[in-house]
Amino acid sequence: MESCLFCKIAAKQIPARIVHETDRILAFEDIAPKAPHHILIIPKEHFASFNELPAEKGALLAEVLMTARAVARERGIAESGYRIVLNTAPDSGQEVFHIHFHLLGGRRMSWPPG
Ligand code: 5GP
Ligand code: ZN
Repeated sequence: MESCLFCKIAAKQIPARIVHETDRILAFEDIAPKAPHHILIIPKEHFASFNELPAEKGALLAEVLMTARAVARERGIAESGYRIVLNTAPDSGQEVFHIHFHLLGGRRMSWPPG
């Protein structure tokens, strides 16, 4: 999608600190980290949010999630703990409308989220 920020990052039209990449998935550092480790994991294919993801894309979604877990392991936070967040639609705080998971870790997090 031409106007989408994360599509532009996936196409390398906008730079990002890439952590992991396959032909379907990209993981990169969040530009404004909310924790010592804050990585965004996206499918390169554009879906505005989880609400728009077709059910038949379940395998792609699993791949994105498994990438988040692999990055947590690589960063050494798998055992200390991490949070994976999928903001969906305005009340969640979603600001970029290309589906993405946040991987957050490296500090103690509170619950419930604000
Ligand atoms: P959302 O609120 O949509 O769930 O999260 C969007 C995230 O994208 C935010 O954490 C924000 O800091 C991050 N972000 C926004 N613009 C950019 C950018 O240009 N590059 C990178 N790497 N992250 C961005
Ligand atoms: Zn997009």
